[in-house]
Amino acid sequence: MELYSKYINKLIEQFSKLPGVGSKSAQRLALHIINMPEEHVERFAQVMLDAKKNIHYCNTCYTLTDAETCPICANQGRDHATIMVVENIRDLAAYERTGKFDGVYHVLHGAISPMLGIGPNDIKLKELIKRLEGDVKEVIIATNSSLEGETTAMYISKLIKPTGIKVTRIASGVPVGGDLECIDEMTLLRALEGRTEL
Ligand code: ZN
Repeated sequence: MELYSKYINKLIEQFSKLPGVGSKSAQRLALHIINMPEEHVERFAQVMLDAKKNIHYCNTCYTLTDAETCPICANQGRDHATIMVVENIRDLAAYERTGKFDGVYHVLHGAISPMLGIGPNDIKLKELIKRLEGDVKEVIIATNSSLEGETTAMYISKLIKPTGIKVTRIASGVPVGGDLECIDEMTLLRALEGRTEL
């Protein structure tokens, strides 16, 4: 005999596909949804659909936005000649929270990982190179200090160096293997200020 109704099982199955949700949490979340007032469930479903329908990549930096060009890229007060390259939008948010970086970003959406079969074409690298045709003075590589992050940094620097554009790497004050988003603002600022030319 099935423990739960097929409707609940389907719900559990969906929740268990989410990152970091184990089977126990999936059961708890599914049963929580069942116990919620119907209008709350409807609003929840609608919020998810609205987000999915309206959010896409910025046409310049590839962060997620509901506009064609994100507010950072659209801000003429920022220094568009300095591009900071990050692995994901959580890292962008971490640097943005410091309020001390007035350049613009480029979000790779991943890092090169031969182990996982992720190559240069699987991240937004071509898109970065394309941006360099514009007026760019410095590319700051702020990928994580993990093996993948370092591999990506070296790869990018080799690609950009021949163009004569200055390529820098944030200081390794960021702990090895450290996720940028978990690091406090002071450490991020020190890493940015202590960046060295590659
Ligand atoms: Zn943008």
